[in-house]
Amino acid sequence: MPVNDIDAPEQVSADHLVPHIPGVIFQFHRARNGHMRFPYLEGGGVALKHIDRELLAENAGQLVEQLTGNDHPKIMSAIERSARWMLPLTTRFRLPFPKEKPHWIAVSAKPTPVDDGVQWNGIMMDISDQVGEEQRLRKLCDTDPLTQLPNRRKLMMHLTHVASLSTRHGTPLSIMMIDIDHFKRLNDRWGHLHGDDVLKQLATHTQSLLRCEDMVARLGGEEFMVVLPLTPLQQCHALADRLRQAISVHDFGMGPGQVTLSIGVAEYRCGEPLTSLIERADQALYSAKDVGRDCVCHIR
Ligand code: GH3
Ligand code: MG
Ligand code: MG
Repeated sequence: MPVNDIDAPEQVSADHLVPHIPGVIFQFHRARNGHMRFPYLEGGGVALKHIDRELLAENAGQLVEQLTGNDHPKIMSAIERSARWMLPLTTRFRLPFPKEKPHWIAVSAKPTPVDDGVQWNGIMMDISDQVGEEQRLRKLCDTDPLTQLPNRRKLMMHLTHVASLSTRHGTPLSIMMIDIDHFKRLNDRWGHLHGDDVLKQLATHTQSLLRCEDMVARLGGEEFMVVLPLTPLQQCHALADRLRQAISVHDFGMGPGQVTLSIGVAEYRCGEPLTSLIERADQALYSAKDVGRDCVCHIR
């Protein structure tokens, strides 16, 4: 007896299967004149529930234009690149959802040239949970656990970015190197836990005194750095002095005048290595310690 006659598995057709998969299978077409549409769009999951598939079968332009942030130009250039070089289209975007946060969708599709343009066959998956986890881990990597300020790693990435903008546009950029005076003494006198609390309060207080575009980071121990885009040295010096003054009269829970700061400031010189800028701010900080602490210095 042929084996197939007993327990022959039921034939499964793609039409039955596709509505149950946790993703979307699609065919996307872009005509030579730029007109976009989805001749085929089927699948399971929640993403398709809020989408007018009949409209998308005729015109996908509206959906693409609705995408938030820089997702619209990002996806358009991914489509263009894939069409021009016949490379796989692989990208992710945020799909707006009514009354909820947008969902992150990953797309992977293969292009094929057709008579009147390019056609892609591909899949889309909702990756919101995965992106949420990535964002949580990235924040963990970039944040100092005690003060919740950006850490040295995050600061260096940010400084590299703003320095390249400063070089490209010829705009000023300054930094402050901040160190708490006699912090060891403070720890010895009031206890390490109180020292921790001073670091946390200093972080909050410093942030509240600066502009939102300025980044305050904890470099380690009782050392902090502030990055001030669009700020020349003199203005940075004045801001640092205002910060120093505010901290010197603030009550951190041991009475005012118990915590003072020494601050070195330096301005970025177009195109110089960042190590030189940091070195100058460091030397200025040493000078501030040398001349008696609770002051702001810069190196000429
Ligand atoms: P100076 O004015 O020369 O900067 O003196 P200082 O005592 O502040 O500097 P020093 O480098 O001698 O000591 C830094 C102290 O900072 C020693 C260390 O125990 C303390 N410290 C570093 N990290 C932490 C922290 O996370 N919490 C607390 N409470 N103290 C810390
Ligand atoms: Mg120090
Ligand atoms: Mg110190």
